[in-house]
Amino acid sequence: MTKSDVSKIKHLLSKPKQIVIIPHKNPDGDALGSTLALYHYLNLSNHNVIVISPNDYPVFLKWLPGENKIINHEIETVRANDLITSADIVFTLDFNALHRAGDIGPIIRKANGLKILIDHHQQPDDFAHYLYSDVTMSSTCEMVYNFIEMLEDISLITAHIATCLYTGIMTDTGSFRFASTTSTTHRIIANLIDKGASNAFIHNNVYDNNSFDKLQLLGVSLKNLKVISILNTAYISLSQKELNASNFRKGDTEGIVNYALSIKGVKFAAIFIEHKSEGIIKISFRSKGNFDVNDFARKNFNGGGHVNAAGGRSDLNLSETIDKFLQLTQDNSTLLKE
Ligand code: 5GP
Ligand code: MN
Repeated sequence: MTKSDVSKIKHLLSKPKQIVIIPHKNPDGDALGSTLALYHYLNLSNHNVIVISPNDYPVFLKWLPGENKIINHEIETVRANDLITSADIVFTLDFNALHRAGDIGPIIRKANGLKILIDHHQQPDDFAHYLYSDVTMSSTCEMVYNFIEMLEDISLITAHIATCLYTGIMTDTGSFRFASTTSTTHRIIANLIDKGASNAFIHNNVYDNNSFDKLQLLGVSLKNLKVISILNTAYISLSQKELNASNFRKGDTEGIVNYALSIKGVKFAAIFIEHKSEGIIKISFRSKGNFDVNDFARKNFNGGGHVNAAGGRSDLNLSETIDKFLQLTQDNSTLLKE
């Protein structure tokens, strides 16, 4: 985003506007944290602001300030479509391609308003008028902080904004431990605490909110964990039957793939989750170091993301998908053995 883009956006926001903000489908802490932070920020200056989520999100995010105002596109489809179509400005946050917004994607494409993308994923599509894309950023929340800074409004950050931004930076950096966490990230986090983000409260809400069933499912996942030591690879699978037996709820599998990556020597990890209703296997990939899972997911599993964290999907059944994966790890053995 150039200085001239910033001054044009600043000018645009100097008068009240109808604004819609949209995170990706199955929004995570960063997607919701960034949209809600921007929502609270824009609300400070007389705009009419609405957050529309493509679908529902996990219970461990159902405490974020403002989340109760979010319109769920799956439930209020007609109203949500009207709002997107007639908005003056549509912000799209934490996704790089319209298909990541599910059924909202085509509506965004057709919308008349000005589109502003803020995102840290690789290779953003070309659908927005203004693009603030930076793949070196830890999170979209860190970018929203920078966006507010570019608009010279850091002094306006409230405790609600700080809480939302802290949450997204925390979840996307694995609590500040991934390589994407920089000293600047920590300085921003320090500022957010000064502005009223309560770190212990936020960690407690997100991470110590487990149900018994969720932990049982974690147990099943760890039992299913397989390691291919020679390829520094580990993976986990969860069948629909296993999910049902643990009364699976949205968000229950979040973070499980990191257990596979935590094994000594492992630098490539995956989790395969069967979604019988959609007829697909949803996959999460994680890596440490140079193995590029964005590239791997993009080429082989219809997905994408970042170098060290990406997702994808497969139309094959669970065991066929895993067979395909195993073959691909063989094909990539030179890279994986490095
Ligand atoms: P997760 O594995 O936690 O679902 O996603 C890891 C990262 O990859 C996230 O940044 C997410 O936005 C991205 N991602 C997940 N699934 C997909 C997908 O199907 N396509 C693309 N392009 N990105 C994905
Ligand atoms: Mn993110």
